[in-house]
Amino acid sequence: MSNENKSSIHDFDVEMICEYFSGLKRQGPGSPDTTRKAASFITGLNKNSRIADLGCGTGTQTLTLAEAVPGHITGLDLFPPFIEIMEQNIAEAGLQERITAVVGSMDDLPFNRGSLDLIWSEGAIYNIGFRRGINEWRDYLDIGGWLAVSEVSWFTDERPDEIADMWQQAYPEIDTIPAKVAQMQEAGYAPLAAFAIPDSDWKEHFYAPMRPVQEAFLAKYGDSEAARGFIENQRWEEDLYNRYCQYYGYVFYIGRKI
Ligand code: SAH
Repeated sequence: MSNENKSSIHDFDVEMICEYFSGLKRQGPGSPDTTRKAASFITGLNKNSRIADLGCGTGTQTLTLAEAVPGHITGLDLFPPFIEIMEQNIAEAGLQERITAVVGSMDDLPFNRGSLDLIWSEGAIYNIGFRRGINEWRDYLDIGGWLAVSEVSWFTDERPDEIADMWQQAYPEIDTIPAKVAQMQEAGYAPLAAFAIPDSDWKEHFYAPMRPVQEAFLAKYGDSEAARGFIENQRWEEDLYNRYCQYYGYVFYIGRKI
């Protein structure tokens, strides 16, 4: 690929990355409006419904989801510092009765099979891969239970080499919307809705808040080559998004276990 000097996020010190993203409200593209829009497709939940938000990060979308649908939500994330911040956010919002935050991994869920009415996941299923995630998580849903996940997707069949190469390196499972919808249907869901999240969810809600965090991060860790490389990589990703956002973006996929 054309940017061999730029390492993937996985090569950097995890603690440093965690600190960077802890300073942000969101760890992935999205917005309260998008969370509410996706939630508007979900019907039939009540106060006894069991919901999981997988890869919840610091829980910004979990709080929005709790206002949009009834039921009890368990937010799960691999990184303890994110869960600590989330617990503070839950307490500040007075939502302790509605949301529980747990450290855990999306490939080893702490739920009983068939016990969930809704599995939610924004910008996180790529960590185990879309196909694997939707197939494995289905076991934890009750019949008629809902799946609502956002996943990076191609909007067109053709795309310029530069962006194709970047995604081939970062996440080869990226695919077109019809391909992802077909995967949902094959996995045993009725794929009832799919919509692309707006550009503003990336530009205003994800990348813009990063800029002051990047400045502060460089002021603190600018001596470290790894830290400088990490920030350079973030800026490169933003630049690619600005140049190629007509070719890819996050798409919310909503389905129901049949
Ligand atoms: N849903 C949040 C965070 C998205 S970023 C938002 O939209 O803002 C992806 C999240 O997945 C990160 O918080 C990361 O810590 C988490 N993650 C990565 N691997 C994971 C795993 N195996 N199990 C659970 N969470 C994981």
